[in-house]
Amino acid sequence: MAQARIIIVGGGFGGLAAVKALRNAPAEIILIDRSNHHLFQPLLYQVATSVLSPGQIGYPIRGILGNQKNTTVILGEVTGVDKDRKCVFVADADHEGMPIPYDYLVLATGVTHSYFGHNEFEEFAPGLKSLADAVAVRNKILEAFEQAEAEEDPSRHRDLLTFVLVGGGPTGVEMAGAIAVLVRSTLKSEFRRIDPASARIVLVDRAPRVLSSFSEDLSNAAKQRLERLGVEVRLGQGVDRIDADGVVLAGKRIVSKTVIWTAGVAPSPAGKWLNTKTDPAGRVRVETNLHVVGHPEIFVVGDTASLDQDGKPLPGVAQVAMQQGRYAGKVIHSRIVGKPEPGPFSYFDKGSMAVVGKGFAVLQSGRVQVNGLFAWLAWAAVHLEFLAQSSLRVSVFLQWVWTYLTGQRGSRLIVNHRGSAPVRVAAGFTATTGAATAVKVP
Ligand SMILES: Cc1cc2nc3c(=O)[nH]c(=O)nc-3n(C[C@H](O)[C@H](O)[C@H](O)COP(=O)(O)OP(=O)(O)OC[C@H]3O[C@@H](n4cnc5c(N)ncnc54)[C@H](O)[C@@H]3O)c2cc1C
Repeated sequence: MAQARIIIVGGGFGGLAAVKALRNAPAEIILIDRSNHHLFQPLLYQVATSVLSPGQIGYPIRGILGNQKNTTVILGEVTGVDKDRKCVFVADADHEGMPIPYDYLVLATGVTHSYFGHNEFEEFAPGLKSLADAVAVRNKILEAFEQAEAEEDPSRHRDLLTFVLVGGGPTGVEMAGAIAVLVRSTLKSEFRRIDPASARIVLVDRAPRVLSSFSEDLSNAAKQRLERLGVEVRLGQGVDRIDADGVVLAGKRIVSKTVIWTAGVAPSPAGKWLNTKTDPAGRVRVETNLHVVGHPEIFVVGDTASLDQDGKPLPGVAQVAMQQGRYAGKVIHSRIVGKPEPGPFSYFDKGSMAVVGKGFAVLQSGRVQVNGLFAWLAWAAVHLEFLAQSSLRVSVFLQWVWTYLTGQRGSRLIVNHRGSAPVRVAAGFTATTGAATAVKVP
C-alpha cells in the first residue's frame, strides 16, 4: 500500500513542530514554505536594531530537516487548496498553481502586518515580520543618523533623529528600548555634528497601557523603565495619519523620518483557501483537535488558527504554534499507524516575557510576576533554548555577552540593493551606498 502523503505548509514554529512530531511516521511528508529559512521572529527586533545579524536568527529549513529522511522540503508559495480534490496549489519559479495532492494537510502559514485598513501607511511605516523587513528597518534607523550627520542645518537634526514606534505591544516596547540603548551606548562617540543621545524616541499606542497582555503592575514597570531610558510613551492616542513627514497623533504632528509599525497583524489567507468558518480577524476556526470543521484530514495550527480555551482565544505566540504543531503531528501519526488519538488539544501556558533595554525584562507566568535583571536572564535563557540550531545558540550567546560588556553591536551595516549608485542623503550631500563615503553635490 502506498504511504500516506502529509503536506505541511509553513516552516515557522507551528509547521516545523508538526514535521518533527512526524519524524518516525511511515509517511511521505512534504514541507512547503515560500521562504527557505525558519525564522526566530521574537529576535527580529535585535536584527532591526543591529544587535544580531540576519544569519543568527534564521536557518535554512532544509538544514534543520536534513536528517529527517521521510521529509522533502519544497520552496514555493501555496496559493490555494482544493478540499474536494485534496490538493494544494503551489507557485514556484517555474510553475503557477501546480497541484500537489495530499492525504493529510497541515496549514501553518502565520500572519502578516495589518495596518487596520490604512494600507497607505505601509509605504512610510514598515513593519517587522521577515528578515527582509528587519534589514529594511535597520537601514532606515542607521540612515537617519547618517542623514543627520550630513545635514548642515542643525535645526533639522531634531526631526531626522525622531523615531516613532506605532504599537506598544512586546515588539514596540522591545524596539523602543533597544533604540534607546543604541543611541546612548553604541553610537555615543562616533558622530561629530550630532549627539545620538539627543534622539527622540516616541512609542505610541491607542491603548491606555503598554504590554496590555501583561498585568497592570508589569506594564507600569515596563513603562517606567522606558521613560528612564528616555523614551516618550504616548498612550491613549490613536495615529490619524502617517506620511513622508511623520505621524499625526491625536490631531498633532510629530515630524519624523523614521516611523516603524509595531501594531496589528492579520492572518494568512488560509481561511479563504478553505472557504471555511473564520473568527472576526479572519483566522480559521478549528475543532478542539485542531482540524477544520467537516474535514478531519485538514489541520490548521499557530497564528492562522483560532481556538478558544477557558472562554478566551489562544494568543498568537510561538508556544501556542509549537504545541499545536506538535499535537497535529501526533494526531496524524496516530491515525496512520491505527493507534488511539490523543485527547483534545490543551495549551499549557509557560508564561510571557518582554525585554526593556539592557538587563531588564518583565516576566509573567501564572501567578509569578517578576521584572528586572532576573527576568532578563530568564528571557535570555528561554530564547537561546528555542533557537533552531546549536550553532545559532552559541553565536547569539557570544554576541549578547560581547554587546552587554562593550556596548558594541554585531551588525551595524546599511545594506540595500542600490549597489554603489549615489543616493541623496541630505540637502547638499549625496552618499555612495556601496562605499562609505559622502560627497558634496556640485
Ligand atoms: C516581531 C515579532 C516578535 C515576536 N515576539 C514573540 C515573542 O517574544 N514570544 C512569542 O511567543 N511570540 C512572539 N512572536 C509571535 C510568534 O513569532 C508567532 O506566534 C509564531 O511565529 C507563529 O508561528 P506560526 O507557525 O503560526 O507562523 P510563522 O512562524 O510566522 O510561520 C509561518 C510560515 O509560513 C510560511 N508561509 C506563509 N504563507 C505561505 C504560503 N502561502 N506558502 C508557503 N509558505 C507560507 C512563512 O514563510 C513562514 O515560514 C513575535 C512575532 C513577531 C513578528
